[in-house]
Amino acid sequence: MKMIFINALIITADENFSIYENGMILIDDTKIAFVGDMNIKRQIEFAADEVIDAKGNIIIPGLINAHTHLSMTLFSGYGSGLPLKEWLEDKIWPAEEKLTPQDVYIGAKMGITQMLLSGTTCFLDMYYFIDDIAKAVEEMGIRAVLSRAVLDVGGFDLKLKESIESIEKYENHNMIDIMTAAHTIYTNTTQGLLEIIDTAKKYNKSINIHISETKLETANCIKKYKKTPVEYLNDIGMFDVPVIAAHCVHLSDNDIKILHDKKVNVVHNPSSNFKLASGIAPIQKLIDAGVNVALGTDGASSNNNLDMIEEMHIAALTAKIESCNPAALDAETVIKMATINGAKALKIDKKTGSLEIGKQADLIMIDTDSPFSQPKREYLNNLDYSIERREATMTMIAGEILQSGGIIKDFDLENLNEQFNNCIDRLC
Ligand SMILES: [Zn+2]
Repeated sequence: MKMIFINALIITADENFSIYENGMILIDDTKIAFVGDMNIKRQIEFAADEVIDAKGNIIIPGLINAHTHLSMTLFSGYGSGLPLKEWLEDKIWPAEEKLTPQDVYIGAKMGITQMLLSGTTCFLDMYYFIDDIAKAVEEMGIRAVLSRAVLDVGGFDLKLKESIESIEKYENHNMIDIMTAAHTIYTNTTQGLLEIIDTAKKYNKSINIHISETKLETANCIKKYKKTPVEYLNDIGMFDVPVIAAHCVHLSDNDIKILHDKKVNVVHNPSSNFKLASGIAPIQKLIDAGVNVALGTDGASSNNNLDMIEEMHIAALTAKIESCNPAALDAETVIKMATINGAKALKIDKKTGSLEIGKQADLIMIDTDSPFSQPKREYLNNLDYSIERREATMTMIAGEILQSGGIIKDFDLENLNEQFNNCIDRLC
């Protein structure tokens, strides 16, 4: 199938952050065959099966949610008002013990539904029952990087074994990649973390981990090891493999230096950090230091949604108040965080994350006729501050339009809602 989008304002998020105000994109099957200024000759030569006039729309790369626990849509609102420790120990972990593979599958489908409706085309997940999440991913057509959470609570060895099995099972899958995951330093022993590092090295995978999310985590680590979490993980060799560090709220200047020197990718999750009162991550400082910073929603139970457009807005505001600098985290930087930086963190930037020839056609369309998209010439600011998910009127993944006008292709929302609420009645 060959498709052309014409007359679009295209933000590519490529190396030069190229923008084509009257642009076109040619899509050949799953890939981008051309992106640039309108070119009638090229358009005729391409002989597309479908031509879409995108006048009045912006096309940007699909958003990449670089940190989530997809199936935690099931626990949205559950335990609201508690800080992280009590929220996990008293509410979430006991409820998670009751989860069946079917619950995780239904929760994942609800999560993917939210993502397709709000312009997300790829996500990095940390959870369990990977096969059931993968089934939801395959059925709904989204791109994903999945990681089995490994922690020393209720059977470390089994969790690590499942992590390895998933690596082997999804090797060469066209839409799913797998990485390893260490839940946190406080849910793992040093020996356990060393085993996870060895696994990542053996299978040439990254490690997905939460780092320095709360003051308590950082204080306990200093008490126990006389080091910050970043210093401790650096000393045990975790950063000798590629790492994606979610949160990184409480960092010293030395931590930031280590994260930069060791090329650790940081994922900013401002909504979750606010909701659990964890603090405000020093994102502008990390960016100034040259750290690759991506954006994520965290699980829907600490957000309470998986809406990356809203997360971009909150990130843009958060950095300004954290640094008392209205110039912090400009519009271009926030768009990169939500797209190409996420792809780099997930090591899939050769495949997706920007609109460039040869990459997968993962893109979204933003309606610029909406009152929230005015004035049109302020489109970069509008993307960061004023548009909402309803302006994401089309989501395409691997050349296939999966959401158009707020409707997901071949999908029964009523049925999913019913199954989803039945799960919740049993779980919490
Ligand atoms: Zn998380």
